Amino acid sequence: MSEDLFKNIISHSKEYGFIFPSSEIYDGLSAVYDYGQLGVELKKNIREYWWKSMTLLHENIVGLDAAIFMHPTTWKASGHIDAFNDPLIDNKDSKKRYRADVLIEDHIAKIESKIEKEIEKAAKRFGETFDAAMYRSTNPRVLEYQKKAEEINSRFKTALENNNLTEVKQIIEDCEIVCPISGSRNWTDVRQFNLMFSTQMGSVSEDAGTIYLRPETAQGIFVNFLNVQKTGRMKIPFGIAQTGKAFRNEIVARQFIFRMREFEQMEMQYFVKPGTEMQWYTSWKETRMKWHSSMGFPASKYRFHDHIKLAHYANAACDIEFEFPFGFKELEGIHSRTDFDLKSHEQHSGKKLQYFDPEENKSYVPYVVETSIGLDRMFLALISHAYKTETLEDGSTRDVLSLPAFLAPVKAAILPLVKKDGLPEKASEIMELLKFDHLCQYDEKDSIGKRYRRQDAIGTPFCITVDHDAIDSSSSNYNTVTIRHRDTMQQERVSIDQLPAIVEEKVSIKKMLRSL
Ligand code: ATP
Repeated sequence: MSEDLFKNIISHSKEYGFIFPSSEIYDGLSAVYDYGQLGVELKKNIREYWWKSMTLLHENIVGLDAAIFMHPTTWKASGHIDAFNDPLIDNKDSKKRYRADVLIEDHIAKIESKIEKEIEKAAKRFGETFDAAMYRSTNPRVLEYQKKAEEINSRFKTALENNNLTEVKQIIEDCEIVCPISGSRNWTDVRQFNLMFSTQMGSVSEDAGTIYLRPETAQGIFVNFLNVQKTGRMKIPFGIAQTGKAFRNEIVARQFIFRMREFEQMEMQYFVKPGTEMQWYTSWKETRMKWHSSMGFPASKYRFHDHIKLAHYANAACDIEFEFPFGFKELEGIHSRTDFDLKSHEQHSGKKLQYFDPEENKSYVPYVVETSIGLDRMFLALISHAYKTETLEDGSTRDVLSLPAFLAPVKAAILPLVKKDGLPEKASEIMELLKFDHLCQYDEKDSIGKRYRRQDAIGTPFCITVDHDAIDSSSSNYNTVTIRHRDTMQQERVSIDQLPAIVEEKVSIKKMLRSL
């Protein structure tokens, strides 16, 4: 998978109004992006599909829209004030800041890629008889690299577990890791850096007025657990779903909208009876993978990745990873969070956050299984898989976004073949026929071929072309139009009154929800 493809996706997103760098006229703001006229539609459609799949398909899941600002003690209780840190190190020569863990992990990855190169070389040398597994377990050079990588890895793991930052720096020094910019090994000490953004509330300037921009939406759900349970008369198990902005002062904020400082999450916390959490964890893993599969991408693009080292609050956790242009990376997290959050909020607030279970005739703090997906990452997964440059039969090329039709920003383009002879008027009638259900674009500028290309590039599933026959009452094609399908480029002639049904059939969210 090439860097070029990723660069093309970024420039395509900008060129067609999907994503712009934030405040671009001031040269942008690092790891912050704005969604343009088409991006906002695609994002809204993804959000809507997620939301409906939670709240319409599950009678026991309800929504919530909590504020971004929360009482500061929330973040003490959740552990974010004390533990939401990245270990940082600066290079004194380049003045560049790095995540110490990323430097070490990259170093280990380099050693691992040396192993792969050795194996590739040997495979070429030995030809068909080559046994890669055997070579890996016996070749002295490969074994030496493996030992080195494992040693660094285990030293690093122990250092992190013991929060031993001096040792983390020592590993960087022992591995002779250099700054990629200055090439020097002139490093500062490693220190912890909290990822939460803080600001002041009201006019108080001392510490008491410090509040945080939420680093995850989940806590708004936990603190409202009883409000929703009581007012909604919810019975366990039940879920609360929420979409909204979250903020993290990410240090290594590269990779476009994969890692942003301001992003949007779609989270659902499912409150269950203690002891049943593993069963729900397994069932939510399946439900969420089904949702991803409904995008129609190959199953090989997704995989589960179980967490080996669990967060302090979890008793099981995994990621759904997607194969982005830069490799398999986390798209969604599914976590069994035990009763950690609710219990901790009980302790910090002094309020009971318990559920009275009529069947058990007792109160308990429920356990929580959560599904948490980044809306922006989902957006990136979609466009990076959908974006293709195709070479056509005549040797020309076209850029096409093969987005799932039900998520595409524009569902149909209405194109009069020429801008005279009454064709624009007929095209406008078709706009009127469709626009109350779907976002449609009317376009009469440039040749029809160019207009098709523009629509392919933004992922419009249908181009509807109005020609002279459509308005010629003596023609057998009177009141018919051609409809062109984005992916196959096939065209068919259909009667105008059939259009709403044809478009609806292909772009209906309802149909997708039924398939889940
Ligand atoms: P990562 O390991 O990539 O930093 P995480 O494990 O910290 O992610 P979670 O806290 O589990 O992420 O958040 C849930 C989801 O929110 C992630 O699966 C991801 O899709 C999204 N997400 C997290 N951080 C960011 C970010 N900086 N930019 C965009 N999306 C994010």
